[in-house]
Amino acid sequence: MSSENKDTIKGTAIGIDLGTTNSLAAVVRNGRPQALAGEHGVIVPSVILLKEGKLEIGVPAREAMVENSEHTIYSVKRLMGKAASDFDSDRDNLPFEVASDTRGLASVKIDGRIYSPVELSAAILKKVKEQAEKKLGANVDRAVITVPAYFDDAQRQATRDAGKIAGLEVLRTINEPTAASLAYGMDKLDRGIIVVYDLGGGTFDISILRLENGIFEVLSTAGDTRLGGDDFDMEIVNLILNKAEKLGARPDQKSSRMRALLRREAERAKMELSDTDHATITIPVDSVDYKITITRKEFEALLTPWVERTMGLCRRAMDDAKLTTEDINEVILVGGSTRVPFVREKVEKLFRKTPHCDLGPDEAVAMGAAVQADILTGGRDDLLLLDVTPLSLGIEVMGGVMNPLIRRNAKIPAMAKEVFTTYVEGQTSVAVRVYQGERELVADNRSLGSFDLTGIEPQPAGSPRIEVSFVLDADGILRVSALDMKSGKKHDITVRPSYGLNKDEVSQMVRDSFVHARDDIEKRLFIELSQEAKTVINATEKALELISEFKPGEKEDILEAVEELETALGGSNSRELREKLDDLNDATADLAARMVNSNFGEFLKDKSIDDAKKYVN
Ligand code: AMP
Repeated sequence: MSSENKDTIKGTAIGIDLGTTNSLAAVVRNGRPQALAGEHGVIVPSVILLKEGKLEIGVPAREAMVENSEHTIYSVKRLMGKAASDFDSDRDNLPFEVASDTRGLASVKIDGRIYSPVELSAAILKKVKEQAEKKLGANVDRAVITVPAYFDDAQRQATRDAGKIAGLEVLRTINEPTAASLAYGMDKLDRGIIVVYDLGGGTFDISILRLENGIFEVLSTAGDTRLGGDDFDMEIVNLILNKAEKLGARPDQKSSRMRALLRREAERAKMELSDTDHATITIPVDSVDYKITITRKEFEALLTPWVERTMGLCRRAMDDAKLTTEDINEVILVGGSTRVPFVREKVEKLFRKTPHCDLGPDEAVAMGAAVQADILTGGRDDLLLLDVTPLSLGIEVMGGVMNPLIRRNAKIPAMAKEVFTTYVEGQTSVAVRVYQGERELVADNRSLGSFDLTGIEPQPAGSPRIEVSFVLDADGILRVSALDMKSGKKHDITVRPSYGLNKDEVSQMVRDSFVHARDDIEKRLFIELSQEAKTVINATEKALELISEFKPGEKEDILEAVEELETALGGSNSRELREKLDDLNDATADLAARMVNSNFGEFLKDKSIDDAKKYVN
């Protein structure tokens, strides 16, 4: 490739599936994601060989593993962002010695030196990056890296740090099941429930996602960090040994060379059995080559308990998400071990859906990450990507009024909080309706979603304190949550305000807000005054019921003022409403003064709406 050509594609953004067993990069070219195959096939085994100060990564490290088992590191992803103490009861099951670094984080100890999982992962990412650059003939400097859906913030941060050390700007980390869904174009569906069944070499993960408004939400996950193709290989190794014994052969199982050979042959046979109904293995014992045949039927019988275990975890994930198989719209298969036909059949039977697997189960996650990288770097213009929010974001308050929390042109990320209250006695739930736009009334704005916060303790109107928070993250995703500060009950939703919105619509919405500004403000004022007027009428009527002594003509004047205020409420003129409200306040002023020291004083207290205490519906 010429240097000129190199320049034009300099700074390519790729997607990387940083896996426990294997890692892979992909890129979007001409609108289509493609995996970046390396010289040794498609993938980079996530294996590192550390010997005599030298570092080997990928295929050479895996090939040298048998001879150098004590210098080889694999499955380092398991340590990412974890404390050393997390492995106190689990050290025996890890293929290396876990040590604690100075901050108590889990690290790997080899030859007396401590290596952090971040630097080891960085070495793998660097290899993946180099392989991608070789394949593309271009410099790669940005990436979207995938992480398991269950990764916490520390684990995600560790992954981002690893990317940085590898010389990559990490555009984002995204969930592996979300990436798989993106690869299959699920984001183009309106909505749906998607199951991602991921069975790799050493781990099994099931994730249930809900897609709505272009946003994937993880409803539940389940899995087993020690269940995968390696177990299938071990079952075949045991079968080979049984069959060999019947032929009078006793392979030396103490020899690490023999163990490695058995494992390699078992894996080869397993892969062959994905396409054929039998596979033959040759093992040399005492200078004799023994040929052993394994049928697919035999293999499937050995697989049954393992696959059943994954089925149990799928059921658990569905229970956790409170879903049944009827609710599932799409099933995606990820991970090399889903190439086994028996696994596919079982998944299909459980979910009663033909699973998606045509992209190649080892490649879908990387391809989805590439799609995300392409979106983030502007490759896809069907999405609005901005660093300020183009329209205000808020909730509906009583009377259909828009209450913005994050204002138009606020820098992203942005955060805002406000406390609201109820206006009905004993109200036990509130509706939080989220809108976007510049108009004063929500009816003229764009609805983004809504939810109910239930379980509020019944209290007098105006007493509950409902804290509503808006968090708009760097990716333009808005999380709205409502918290009842007394009971601690909380509910939230996530929306993408830019979804389905183009630049012209944004401009139109802003223009409309200028054109209708005067009208809108008048309407809003009228609604707010109406609320105040209703509260005052209500309080006056209660006072009239309780008081028996009036000055001459006082009660008649009050009743007349109430009537006139009610008539004004039926209109739409805020000035008139203000006047009539003032008239009623004047008519009741003397009565209020007399009541101040009585037990009834509360009723005629100023009921105007306190700005810090707005009413939600
Ligand atoms: P992954 O962790 O997703 O890279 O998956 C690796 C696992 O997939 C290993 O256990 C492989 O032996 C297994 N695998 C890869 N290809 C096949 C195949 N054609 N049939 C059965 N298992 C496979």
